[in-house]
Amino acid sequence: MDSTDKENKDLRRSLRLLADKVERNEAVLHSFFEIELRLLSCSNLAELLDLILIDFKQHFQLAAVNLILFDPENAARCLLEDYAPPEPGHSLRFVTNQRLLNSLFPSSKLRIGELSPQLKSIAFPSNPYVSSSALLPLIRHNCLIGSLHLGSNDSARYSEHFDYDYIGHLASVISVCFENCINQQNLKRLSIIDMLTKVNNRRAFDQEIIRELSRASRNKTPLSCLFIDLDYFKLVNDNFGHQVGDKVLRSVGLLLKQSLRKTDFVARYGGEEFAILLPNCDEEKAIEIGNQLRIKILHMVIHNNDNEPFRVSASIGVTSCRYGSFAFDNLDAQAHALLKAADDAVYQAKEKGRNRIEYRSLPEMKPELFNHVNSDLRSV
Ligand code: GH3
Ligand code: MG
Ligand code: MG
Repeated sequence: MDSTDKENKDLRRSLRLLADKVERNEAVLHSFFEIELRLLSCSNLAELLDLILIDFKQHFQLAAVNLILFDPENAARCLLEDYAPPEPGHSLRFVTNQRLLNSLFPSSKLRIGELSPQLKSIAFPSNPYVSSSALLPLIRHNCLIGSLHLGSNDSARYSEHFDYDYIGHLASVISVCFENCINQQNLKRLSIIDMLTKVNNRRAFDQEIIRELSRASRNKTPLSCLFIDLDYFKLVNDNFGHQVGDKVLRSVGLLLKQSLRKTDFVARYGGEEFAILLPNCDEEKAIEIGNQLRIKILHMVIHNNDNEPFRVSASIGVTSCRYGSFAFDNLDAQAHALLKAADDAVYQAKEKGRNRIEYRSLPEMKPELFNHVNSDLRSV
């Protein structure tokens, strides 16, 4: 009887332990499902990185989360121009070759447990107190695209004696999410970037001008618009060839981008025409900026295929609108009026001899004027 009692007691104890374990496993799985859904709903790279580098730490109660991404052609970094990774600075690193990643994953498998001092300095350069960790290889199409490091101060948290299938699964989901976000954002970027000059394209400009007009109205700030048309550009092509003409366009695009504020918007509007939006910039300042650009373009030295230097010039049209000069409830009509005024000003600059800047003010805005605005707008 005694021995049956003891057996029953032991069995009950084992059952309780088992039930506890099931409960714990369920909680872990639930927490992984939740994070998986959040990963899958990220629509851009910055959001995905914030989730991994900031939220993972809290969600999984970790001491450190570090990430290394393989970015051989700067594709990810291009999409993250304005992204500031969380502190410490080493939490996000990019590598252009796979040497470092291969040294972390000689067998492309998850790495669990305590790390050697050397590996720790690679995986957690700013967190020497990490005492156990999981290093997750991020793999897509049989290629190591990154490495995610989860670090804990608890030496028993990650132990090689346990199974971590769900972490392996998480690594696969994260890899797919990285690929998706980069592809999606690249596609979006391609649709708004001019491939030759790498500045925005006309489509992006047409969207941005509406956004900026709306912002100017909300903030009661001025908005200026510059139109830049290169002079006698056909002669550049005729004299030096189309390729050299392309080089000029690329150089002008770069010069414009480098010369303006981050908040200004540069676009290639047509063949050899660029359009610029200057938010919170009145007409006086816009004329000054336009003139500086004209001089910079004039001083730019390009070389033809025989390495002989030559220069180009530009005619620039400027226009501005300020709060009160527009009936701000019709943004499309205002955009047309702004573009037409800037284009008219360029036309005037050409008539007056080129390599100059002209200002054209906006017509008095009366709604009935805009009934014909589309038919009346010269092709720009
Ligand atoms: P103007 O001073 O009156 O503006 O004269 P222009 O020669 O610059 O103007 P026109 O409109 O007669 O010619 C524009 C030229 O721009 C013609 C076209 O071949 C060239 N062009 C347009 N797009 C491209 C391009 O992508 N690459 C190159 N190389 N040339 C281009
Ligand atoms: Mg032109
Ligand atoms: Mg031209």
